[in-house]
Amino acid sequence: MSQSSPAPGVPTEKPSLDFIRQIVADDLASGKHSCVITRFPPEPNGYLHIGHAKSIYLNFSLPLEFPGEAADSCCHLRMDDTNPAKEEVEYVESIKEDVQWLGFEYGSHFYNASDYFEFFHECAVHLIKAGKAYVDFQTSDEMRANRGTLTEPGRPSRWREALPEENLAEFAKMRAGDYPDGHCVLRAKIDLGSANLNLRDPALYRIVHAEHHSTGRAWCIYPMYDYAHPLEDAKEGVTHSLCTLEFEAHRPLYDWVIENCPVPAKPRQIEFAKLQLTFTLLSKRNLRRLVEDGVVTGWDDPRMPTLAALRRRGLPPAAIREFCRQIGLTKFNARTDIGLLDKCVRDELNKSVPRYFGVLRPLKVTIANWPAGQVEMIEAANNPERPELGTRQVPMSGELWIEQDDFMEDPPKEFFRLGPGREVRLRYAYNITCTEVVKDADGCVRELVCTYDPESRHGGKKVKGIIHWVSAAHAQAVPVRLYDRLWTVEEPGGDVEKELNPLSLEVLSDSQVEPAVAAMEPGERCQFERLGYFIADAHDSRSGSPIFNRIVGLKDSWAKVAAKK
Ligand code: ATP
Ligand code: MG
Repeated sequence: MSQSSPAPGVPTEKPSLDFIRQIVADDLASGKHSCVITRFPPEPNGYLHIGHAKSIYLNFSLPLEFPGEAADSCCHLRMDDTNPAKEEVEYVESIKEDVQWLGFEYGSHFYNASDYFEFFHECAVHLIKAGKAYVDFQTSDEMRANRGTLTEPGRPSRWREALPEENLAEFAKMRAGDYPDGHCVLRAKIDLGSANLNLRDPALYRIVHAEHHSTGRAWCIYPMYDYAHPLEDAKEGVTHSLCTLEFEAHRPLYDWVIENCPVPAKPRQIEFAKLQLTFTLLSKRNLRRLVEDGVVTGWDDPRMPTLAALRRRGLPPAAIREFCRQIGLTKFNARTDIGLLDKCVRDELNKSVPRYFGVLRPLKVTIANWPAGQVEMIEAANNPERPELGTRQVPMSGELWIEQDDFMEDPPKEFFRLGPGREVRLRYAYNITCTEVVKDADGCVRELVCTYDPESRHGGKKVKGIIHWVSAAHAQAVPVRLYDRLWTVEEPGGDVEKELNPLSLEVLSDSQVEPAVAAMEPGERCQFERLGYFIADAHDSRSGSPIFNRIVGLKDSWAKVAAKK
């Protein structure tokens, strides 16, 4: 067994017993199965997204949660690479990386559907010999027209009653490359009168003269998904084949293939609802278009919902697993609030990362009564709620940067930060009072002159406002990318131009950070106190000159007050 121990960081808290876990538990209890074998079967035609994470989490968690007796329980990672035209090796590598990054191990259980091309072919020959499949030369238009409707049965093709020997010969010609693309298909002979259109003699094989990324030109006939998938599952001894709801109406065909082909095992297909998220467009097809049209900079643009993008954006994999655990499994389609993912990210990061000072939009403060040239080291907690994260020394001097938002020239009563004549506390340091507002020729506030209360280091007047700051002489200017939702509507998928958020990326070039932040290595995360969680971008940062991505913001109580007005 390659999966002897739980994947690192898999939530210790078990998911509740949803309908799939109930089936699995029952199958083990009744002795129907002695182990649980699942599979995650992506088609390598794009990068995985957060929706796939739901499926990965489910498929890889089940064998860990229900190891059974035989100790063979595991999850297979299988490339569903039966479609030669659209698939690329780049995607295969990214899929492996993403699954591992999420914290799951497939060990030796990595498979390709293309490994079973011979087996699919044998099964097709078996069906033809049994009179259960035939080669149909109707055009695709004829086939569509003859398929019938929900109220009318289908009409038989004139090739439907061809003899097995004739079909075998024609199928051999298909395979030998005697026919061009689309010339004919192999169809199952099931039931043209079925109320389920999937059973009206579905296509099993089609002709595609194209290069396949792993089998090259060895084949020019390729199996259809509904035919290949059950055979792949059976070949691998999968016990529970978990897929999304749109395959529910395909299940009778799945079962037909299993019943009628010489398979070594009988897997069971069970469907669950896809993950859909507000303000998020999923599906590789859509995401590929955004990449190709240059709407985003690539599959890993931090505004994308791909796992590669979320990794680059700075989301910890544990937060994504916890999100998947919390959303659970149902049988009905619904949209999950993207806010739940944000919450899981905040909760996870709050446990592990330090809080430092960074000023996104700096405003200069000069402390008029600060002793000239004095630098004082201020001890600051890395997270006051988690003393185990320790403390650091932050240099303080007579010239500081504070956040522009932390000053208002004419503040309303509920604004507890700085204004003319008002006093605030500099986090961990002193109280300051604004005595003068210096403006430039355009009337913009350029600088504040303040006085500090030397007695307030460990006491002083109790003030409501506490703000963050950095010493100007010790600060480093860093670029910061503020990412926001890519879409302005809850259910994107309509007019891209209208629905895209023009403010999904704001780049600040002159944010000022304290020395601890300037020293962060690429890939390191922290909280900028009061602002949000940030990561030093792993691609673009260099040691000593980090470039930050905002992972997720914090809740801003002022924003709430402002919104109420
Ligand atoms: P996409 O539309 O993004 O291409 P897909 O279903 O075509 O998705 P596959 O590569 O075939 O992508 O998917 C691999 C597995 O991931 C399948 O079992 C599929 O059901 C599952 N999956 C895809 N999207 C979601 C989603 N949004 N929520 C849950 N599972 C999903
Ligand atoms: Mg697909």
